[in-house]
Amino acid sequence: MGTLGEQVSGLEQMDKLVTLCKRRGFVFQNSEVYSGLAGFWDYGPLGVELKRNIERFWWNYMVRRRDNVAGLDAALIGPEAVWVASGHVGAFHDALVDDKNSKERFRIDQLLYHNEEDAEAAEIYALEAIAAGVADETKFWDGLKDKLGYYPLNPNTGKESRFTAPRQFNLMFKQGIGATGEGGQTGYLRAETCQPIFVDFDSVRVTSRQRVPFGIAQIGKAFRNEINPRNFLFRAREFSQMEMEFFVRPDTLIEQLKAAQATETPGLHDQPGSLAPTHHWYEYWQGERRSYYTALGIPDKLLRIHDHPAEKLAHYAQLASDIEFQFPFGWGELEGIHHRGEYDLRQHQEHSGKKFEYFDDDAHRQLTESGMNKDEARQLATYLPNCIETSVGLDRTFLAVLAAAYDEDVQETKHEGKEADIRIVLRLHPRLAPVTCAVFPLSKKLSGPDSKAYKLYRTLIDMGLAAEYDDAGSIGKRYRRMDEIGTPWCLTYDFDSEEDGAVTVRDRDSLDQDRVSLEEVPMLLLQRLSES
Ligand code: ATP
Repeated sequence: MGTLGEQVSGLEQMDKLVTLCKRRGFVFQNSEVYSGLAGFWDYGPLGVELKRNIERFWWNYMVRRRDNVAGLDAALIGPEAVWVASGHVGAFHDALVDDKNSKERFRIDQLLYHNEEDAEAAEIYALEAIAAGVADETKFWDGLKDKLGYYPLNPNTGKESRFTAPRQFNLMFKQGIGATGEGGQTGYLRAETCQPIFVDFDSVRVTSRQRVPFGIAQIGKAFRNEINPRNFLFRAREFSQMEMEFFVRPDTLIEQLKAAQATETPGLHDQPGSLAPTHHWYEYWQGERRSYYTALGIPDKLLRIHDHPAEKLAHYAQLASDIEFQFPFGWGELEGIHHRGEYDLRQHQEHSGKKFEYFDDDAHRQLTESGMNKDEARQLATYLPNCIETSVGLDRTFLAVLAAAYDEDVQETKHEGKEADIRIVLRLHPRLAPVTCAVFPLSKKLSGPDSKAYKLYRTLIDMGLAAEYDDAGSIGKRYRRMDEIGTPWCLTYDFDSEEDGAVTVRDRDSLDQDRVSLEEVPMLLLQRLSES
């Protein structure tokens, strides 16, 4: 049995995933009956379960099991001042061009998707040309040709075309708040979930009684008016992020503490201790995040780390890397890990006029004990924490999880004239599967509200398991339906069950069938779930 990825091309696999998502109610195009709205997606009954299970998994991994990470759920809209301070109003721009023949619109780097370096060079060249006011298209495209050695083609047709000169386009969704006109306020739908974390830094720190080092985490929607949303859930205009900002002591203080021979406070859960320099924390979170994907059931061979070279770092970053996943359409960013220094807290401190500084009494005590004068120690121990960020897209994770789980294998069939059937199976981690177990009474005669099969189903539901009950159609078809949505265990109640008080537990992956007594089934499933 090979994985589908080995049997068909990436694009075919993508088509199969999109079709499965629609057919089984994972994801639909938003407003499809009105021809759809590009870049917006609706999660159907199974999709919402899978999405919530991924969120829960991330939240447990990043927040619940750590006592130094606190949660937040901030508003989706923020006042203009927040997004001016963050730099998004001034600099969150893409350069867009129109194909004059086909009327298609592209981000300029998308014309050069085949060559990452050229794509980046074109983007930089275009943003510089916009800043310099170059509006003449011939001048612009000739200049770019001199740089790259060729004219870009239309990426959809692979043919030469005529493009407009680039224009700047802000990716934020602007929103009038309250009465329009005088007295009204301008706000923005948040372009990333991290800014409210920085804005609320002090409130969360004080109320959660956290001391540096500690983190603040948030899962929620973000909005970007992407010029060309594409690749299904990969690039959408409305999407969700799962972000954690981890605040640590600045390196200058660490150096002073080391010189003062301060003692190391042991780190929590094998984390770096309180004298770890900021890049240790960055490496620590890189490692943690990679392990998270293994725990989530994504094979490590489908992941790789792309470190950003120093000369290509964003203005706020001191170190940056992406965790990339091998999507059916190629490698793509799943998560960004950034060392943001004190950039964001400083920006919000300067723009709001409020103090974001933290007084580190432990550092202050250690410095004064080493003989440092109190004022100097106070100055050093009062600082803006540095921040290490881990930021992952929930929708991209959803797509990655589905792509990694999708499989087809060959099964025997009883269909006349057919030797074998292709079975579609989602090999989802059991804790992510939208349905954990399904109860099948073999015949309608064994079904009904008072039947033992139905009572077993109700017991499983009451225990908090995601269970389904299905008494229609052949048992083979019922298994196939559950395999296709990734249900790890199916429980069949047959005529023998009336005599032996047991059901057959069938495993999605091994196809093993075990006979288990009705009383033992709930515990068995809980045990298998916790061991998965
Ligand atoms: P890209 O380079 O792909 O546009 P980015 O570097 O701008 O992504 P970040 O701002 O670092 O992305 O956002 C963190 C994460 O949010 C990304 O790694 C990705 O998983 C997710 N994300 C960003 N933009 C989108 C989008 N338009 N649709 C879906 N997910 C997104």
